[in-house]
Amino acid sequence: MASLESDSPAYTMAVRQFEIAAKRLDLDRDVIARLRKPDRAYIVSVPTRLDDGTVHVFTGYRVQHNDILGPFKGGIRYHPDVNLGEVSALAMWMTWKCSLAGLPFGGAKGGVACDPTRLSRQELQAMTRRYTAEIRNIIGPEVDVPAPDMGTNEQVMVWILDTYSQHRGHVVPGVVTGKPVEMGGTVGRREATGRGVVYLVAEAAEHLKLDLSRCTATVQGFGNVGSVSAVELAKLGIKIIGVSDRTGGFYDPKGLPVDGLLQYVSQNPELAGCPYGEPISNAELLELPCDILVPAALGMQITGENAGRLKCRILAEGANGPTTLEADEILRQKQVFVIPDILANAGGVIVSYFEWVQDLQNLFWSETEVIRGLKRILTKAFHEVLDLSQKEKTDMRLAALMIGIRRVASAMHWRGLYP
Ligand code: NAD
Repeated sequence: MASLESDSPAYTMAVRQFEIAAKRLDLDRDVIARLRKPDRAYIVSVPTRLDDGTVHVFTGYRVQHNDILGPFKGGIRYHPDVNLGEVSALAMWMTWKCSLAGLPFGGAKGGVACDPTRLSRQELQAMTRRYTAEIRNIIGPEVDVPAPDMGTNEQVMVWILDTYSQHRGHVVPGVVTGKPVEMGGTVGRREATGRGVVYLVAEAAEHLKLDLSRCTATVQGFGNVGSVSAVELAKLGIKIIGVSDRTGGFYDPKGLPVDGLLQYVSQNPELAGCPYGEPISNAELLELPCDILVPAALGMQITGENAGRLKCRILAEGANGPTTLEADEILRQKQVFVIPDILANAGGVIVSYFEWVQDLQNLFWSETEVIRGLKRILTKAFHEVLDLSQKEKTDMRLAALMIGIRRVASAMHWRGLYP
């Protein structure tokens, strides 16, 4: 595990955040030692026949950080940079996120190091099915429940469901969340993360006494989380002045047409070539003057190098781990109001929890019920975090981590150490 820590900036960052919060909570030394490391980390080879007849062996991961509060839960990422350290960091953040939202889940994450944009549908399906077969003994509705993350979607979830079900001999809808509604998914899951981000932006604006109808926003990443965030921000009357994806960004100080952008990405694989606004780079996008910045792509985008040049008032972290520790310090001094990832993007796992409950009960909810539940849980968590940050005179990230970690540590004391 020592090499895992030193090999990955993301894991080093997650552990450091944990240590800062654990110190503030005055946690027991033995509890700290246990929570610094995942319960289990799996690395699997995923041999996949490509369309040209050759076989490529991809590397897949599933890291289960902690299941003291319930079955492991966490997304599966397909991206070239996926590695054991990054997946371990994401799994640890899932533990704190589920705990902060009060969900009966532990934290896990998985992924395959690949570029899904360069694989055909058949190759993606073959790789997904083999990856599922390799991890089938460690997932399941009562054990570990994957969901979509960057580079995966509802189709990938159905391939996982089908492969797992073929091995079990019967259909097991509760093995994954983020499924299409026809396959035991829940209404409102696809939109849940972006919607949640924007509910919390509204809460933050009320706290800061900002008039949202006069605000501007920029969004980095125009996939599931980024595009839904842009749509929901626009519904509140916020002007979206910049968006980007991995091919670059577009900027218009008068506002970009969100419907037009959505239509463009429905007909094209990426934003590249989009006819709206002026082209800008991802680095420029982050530094645009705006009221609200939503990073909704990769981790470690806001660093000690560029944080000083950010001009937003609210930073709503749709992505996981977009802000480094050095950047946090700078943002604190600049009084940027940060809605930290484990709070801001928790809408996804909250509605995944609703989906899992519905699958286990074979009883399905209306969209109104889903939205009401999502808002209730997120708003409560936001105010708990805000109250603690004011009481302890900390930033929102440290307060959110403290609440998430404290619940896990308390459960560990109840359960004790086996044997
Ligand atoms: P996605 O695959 O649907 O979209 C990712 C987007 O990011 C794409 O538009 C892609 O082009 C863009 N991107 C990739 N590399 C980039 C780069 N270097 N610069 C700028 N943009 C880049 O993924 P998603 O599900 O929207 O996830 C985005 C982030 O949100 C991830 O950090 C993920 O962990 C986090 N998240 C997702 C969910 C969920 O429910 N999907 C829940 C919680 C957190």
